[in-house]
Amino acid sequence: MYLADYHTHSRVSPDAAFSMADMAAAAVAAGLDEICFTDHFEPVEWGTDRPRQTFDWAALTAEYADVTNRLGGSIGLKLGLELGDAPMDFANTERLMAEAPELDFVIGSEHMLSGRYHWQDLSIVQEDSESDCRAEIADYLEQVLRMAVWGKFNVLGHLTLPLRYMNEKRGFHATFDGFEAEVSDIFRALIQNGCGIEVNTNRGNTPLPDEKWLRLYRSLGGEIVTLGSDAHRLQHIGCAIREGQALLHECGFERFCTFEQRKPVWHAL
Ligand SMILES: [Zn+2]
Repeated sequence: MYLADYHTHSRVSPDAAFSMADMAAAAVAAGLDEICFTDHFEPVEWGTDRPRQTFDWAALTAEYADVTNRLGGSIGLKLGLELGDAPMDFANTERLMAEAPELDFVIGSEHMLSGRYHWQDLSIVQEDSESDCRAEIADYLEQVLRMAVWGKFNVLGHLTLPLRYMNEKRGFHATFDGFEAEVSDIFRALIQNGCGIEVNTNRGNTPLPDEKWLRLYRSLGGEIVTLGSDAHRLQHIGCAIREGQALLHECGFERFCTFEQRKPVWHAL
């Protein structure tokens, strides 16, 4: 089976520390055929709601040129981006993205709650109860729908991200059950815009999204799907990609995607 990790963070991201060259070497060691680097980019300054004026695209292209020179013959390499929180400022997102280098792949991700929650990052919100969790999930899904309707990316990142923080970090037992209509609207908008979703293997924890939502996406005609570990450390590169492929197959998918110049390349499952 073709093995590709399509969600990884290098030191170009403010929350990761490794060079792309070290990551590519780790990907070779993990038996991967391909790795796509998807560093963070947002229309606001990291950790704030202040509009970003510029983005250091040169740092990204220099890092990618270095890994291409050193390891381009050993493994497939692709330059991507995790475009976070576009709904905070679509116009600024489009202005900054117009200056980006040629990219193979863009993940569209939502990491923040809306202005009603003062754009708090999902990783740091402090809920008091499961009903707070549900209100936040409803707010989050509204933001995701806005992004899906906008549609200027290739796959939606980690659809069920709030559950990572609510359950793994804060000990709740939250689910997306009851939000089937909202999630279906998101999937329909993505499909209509030619976008897909990712199976974020979540470094070996519960996949984001998991089986129920993958089956729903498939039942609505969704086909475009990538797999990514969301590695911010070398030891997580390639983590649970094989298991994610098996899960997709169980859910009725016969193929998955990598990307080249923003176009899907299909691989059998
Ligand atoms: Zn993310």
